[in-house]
Amino acid sequence: MMQYKIARRAASLSPSLTLAIDSKAKQMKAEGHDVVGFGAGEPDFDTPQHIKDAAAKALAAGFTKYTPSSGIPELRQAIADKFQRENGLTYKPSQVIVSCGGKHSCFNVILATCEEGDEVIIPAPYWLSYPEMVKLAAATPVILPTSDKTEFKVTPEQLRAAITPRTRLFILNSPSNPTGTVYTPEEIKALGDICVEKGVLIMSDEIYEHLLYDGATHRSVASWSKAHYDHTIIVHGFAKAWSMTGWRLGFLAAPEPIAKAIDALQSHSTSNPTSFAQKGAVEALNGSQAHLPTWLAEYAKRRTEAWQRLNAMPGVTCVNSKGAFYLFPNISGTGLKSDEFCRRLLETEKVAAVPGIAFGADDYIRISYATSLANIIKGLERMDRFVRSLKA
Ligand SMILES: *Cc1c(COP(=O)(O)O)cnc(C)c1O
Repeated sequence: MMQYKIARRAASLSPSLTLAIDSKAKQMKAEGHDVVGFGAGEPDFDTPQHIKDAAAKALAAGFTKYTPSSGIPELRQAIADKFQRENGLTYKPSQVIVSCGGKHSCFNVILATCEEGDEVIIPAPYWLSYPEMVKLAAATPVILPTSDKTEFKVTPEQLRAAITPRTRLFILNSPSNPTGTVYTPEEIKALGDICVEKGVLIMSDEIYEHLLYDGATHRSVASWSKAHYDHTIIVHGFAKAWSMTGWRLGFLAAPEPIAKAIDALQSHSTSNPTSFAQKGAVEALNGSQAHLPTWLAEYAKRRTEAWQRLNAMPGVTCVNSKGAFYLFPNISGTGLKSDEFCRRLLETEKVAAVPGIAFGADDYIRISYATSLANIIKGLERMDRFVRSLKA
């Protein structure tokens, strides 16, 4: 057998556990098992028709060639308009970069701003790709643990204490994947103030901006002052609020010199995101948003159903989420760690959930409610039986 030398940067990576669980569940389904999947990190709704039509029209018209590597001017303008309209933020189209998914936008930001010796502060539970991306940039992730006792929010004191002369970047994700936590505007400002004071950049992942419940509001950290704006790179994308996960389209807005560096980086890696998909994205931003209230009403109903059922299970407690489409129940009362809990739940009851350890929090599991109410009831009835069997 030939021995292949795998570069350290790739050899040390763990493959994305959420994607792994999702494909295991899909495989079991394909084999005829009646699996209920709570693992997916994507909406179960179809992309709205007018968006698909715009892309199909562009494809039919032959819009199938290379575009400028950071996106077509029309889309960069539509994104700049979105920031002005919804967030009160003024960006020139040249400060906007369109990439192949929000994940790619995050990767670009980290690669363009961090290097060996730099520290990146990441509150846990975190989106599982952040620390791996930081390591790929040869920088060091500094994890700030939080718990359900504080609604998974990192405090200003915690952030201040973690900053060193090497701190380069603070990663903020509100509304959050995996917890659904939404920081209040004032809490965001307090964290932003510290970064401004200490000269730390903020990567603000706002991809769940539009998915809010119980009257929660979103305010971008960049919007508090010119100094906050100058310290912030906003990452966003079309995957969640427009259900376009498979389209691979994300975007970012950054201070000019950072955008310029990312433009160069992307021109030598992926080049442009898919040409005709970008035309669909223009429609997503400029066209009707009528789908959103319908989706939000449906998510809200499912969230309440799931939250009540989870809290009724012995050994399980769950804070309600205020955004995104996740709940992050604490399962420590069952006596199992998250990995074993999820493995046995899938084997015995055919219910797929993601172990919290993937997000740096082993006492929890992630339940996505981006699935039908009927599935939620069925899956959580099974989980209830599973949890009770542990007690027996
Ligand atoms: C889904 C998601 C993204 C981006 O996903 P893409 O499919 O790459 O657009 C970015 N950040 C978080 C926290 C997410 O959950």
